[in-house]
Amino acid sequence: MREKKSEYTQFCQRCKRGTNITSMSMFNTQICCSKCIERERAHPDFPKAREAEQKSIENGDYNYSGIGLPADL
Ligand SMILES: [Zn+2]
Repeated sequence: MREKKSEYTQFCQRCKRGTNITSMSMFNTQICCSKCIERERAHPDFPKAREAEQKSIENGDYNYSGIGLPADL
C-alpha cells in the first residue's frame, strides 16, 4: 500500500480540523480534509463546479478558482 499521506498534521481550511489527507476543493481554492471533500462531492452543485473547472482548463486557464462555495457547505 502506497498511500499519499503527509507525516505531519495539516489543518482543513474549511472545518479547521486536523487531518493528514487533504485535497483542493472544486468550489473554491480551499485545501480541505477528506470529510469536507466527501460532503462537497455529494452536493447538487458539484457537477456544475467540475464542469466549470474542465471548461477553464480547456480555455487554457489553469488558475481556476472555483464557482464559489455554496452557502450550505
Ligand atoms: Zn474539513
